[in-house]
Amino acid sequence: MGASVAGLLAARALAEHFEMVTVLEKDACPVHGAPRSGVPQGRHTHILLPSGAQVLERFFPGRLAELVRDGAKKFDYGRSRFYVAGTWLPRVATGRDSFAQTRPFLEEHLRRWVSELPNVRMVYETNVFAPFFDKANQRVVGLEIGKGSEAREQLRADLVTDATGRHSRLPAWLAENGFGDVPEMKVGIDLAYATGRFQVPADALPDHPMLYIVGPPPEKTRLGVVFQVEGGIAFGGLAGYHEDYPPTDLDGFLRFAKTLSQPDVYNVLSRAKLCAPIAQFRIPTSIRRRYQKMPRFPAGILPIGDAICALDPVFGQGMTVAAFEAEILSRCLHQGLKHKALRRAYFRAVDTCLDIPWTLCCTENFKYPQTTGPRSFSFPLVRRYVDFLTTCGDPAVLAQVYEVLTLAAHPRELLRPDIPVRALRRKLLNASPRKKNP
Ligand SMILES: Cc1cc2nc3c(=O)[nH]c(=O)nc-3n(C[C@H](O)[C@H](O)[C@H](O)COP(=O)(O)OP(=O)(O)OC[C@H]3O[C@@H](n4cnc5c(N)ncnc54)[C@H](O)[C@@H]3O)c2cc1C
Repeated sequence: MGASVAGLLAARALAEHFEMVTVLEKDACPVHGAPRSGVPQGRHTHILLPSGAQVLERFFPGRLAELVRDGAKKFDYGRSRFYVAGTWLPRVATGRDSFAQTRPFLEEHLRRWVSELPNVRMVYETNVFAPFFDKANQRVVGLEIGKGSEAREQLRADLVTDATGRHSRLPAWLAENGFGDVPEMKVGIDLAYATGRFQVPADALPDHPMLYIVGPPPEKTRLGVVFQVEGGIAFGGLAGYHEDYPPTDLDGFLRFAKTLSQPDVYNVLSRAKLCAPIAQFRIPTSIRRRYQKMPRFPAGILPIGDAICALDPVFGQGMTVAAFEAEILSRCLHQGLKHKALRRAYFRAVDTCLDIPWTLCCTENFKYPQTTGPRSFSFPLVRRYVDFLTTCGDPAVLAQVYEVLTLAAHPRELLRPDIPVRALRRKLLNASPRKKNP
């Protein structure tokens, strides 16, 4: 269910293990490069982190180069211009490639790669209304589908993946069929994005595909970004937490950009030409659904992507996490797991995989006292430590922080003894009077 990033990657994983994979999508097959209503976030900036890109490369060997050939901007995250925690970060080489492109462009490529698989069938303009169950065996055995709101037919399936995004109806279907409520965690961030597509004169373009100005929280709830994407276009994105929403009229948008902690985003966008109306997207909460904690769960259906966990998008992790989950699914199927064993192994691995991005987002989100939700006692400690490492000025330490933020390394890497030692040494060196007055 769903032909967005998670749905397409799930199809790729399933195609190796099932005779036929049918991808059901309620939207029409998108016209070249156009955003579509089922993915409203597609009008906003979407970067693909290195570890997500590596999954794509493993699933579709050699195809990642097509993205760049067709115009995506390959860039080193560490070489970006970041204003974070009240300081410009030094630019460091991480040696890993991230990709900046419009979301429809990325989806179009993925769709082509998946459609080329001989046993995958894409079916558009088809709504999934509900799963149907073999009640005796507590198992989903197919889906009720149809075009429009009435015509319904039953499609049988050995395994269904729910990739219908943050508004997935799986929790409601489970409750309606007697499986109880899904335990979920919600973090209230009241975030809104506003994004415009701009043509920027060459002499106003930043010297890197990504320019990012964040907060600093808790005083500043605003952030701004300029991303260069395919087709000579730059995305200008503004966002505000806790109902500090960026306006969608150009004057208001630029006024908002001017109030960021640094003028750089405003300096670029105020010289640029807006090419399409500014789009807004609101994200009241991040949601993490903990299916593995349900005492009863039917066989034959597994959620993936935002249907399990919709993260704060500011960190650009959603598509990468969906890719990790598709790889977990692939691994479980390769092990020959079925039914209960498949569900257990999949949910356990997914939950472990989600711990890291969820904690990274929460740690930042809870810098704002207005943020609501389950607050861990460790957040302030983690936050201070990560801010200390991020702003210490040591390139090797910062490169390691980026490894963690881009989900390429486990956070425990930041606890290696050499990391705080290097950071402390650099802080002391920077603070020494000789350094201050050379
Ligand atoms: C503003 C914003 C910016 C973001 N930026 C980034 C970024 O920079 N990097 C990044 O990695 N992630 C980013 N994300 C997150 C990213 O968009 C998602 O994590 C990613 O798209 C995975 O989502 P998904 O495929 O699970 O669901 P979605 O992309 O939401 O897709 C759900 C699909 O299911 C279909 N569907 C829904 N219901 C039905 C039904 N009943 N029947 C049939 N089809 C159905 C929809 O039409 C749609 O195609 C951002 C998110 C937002 C909101």
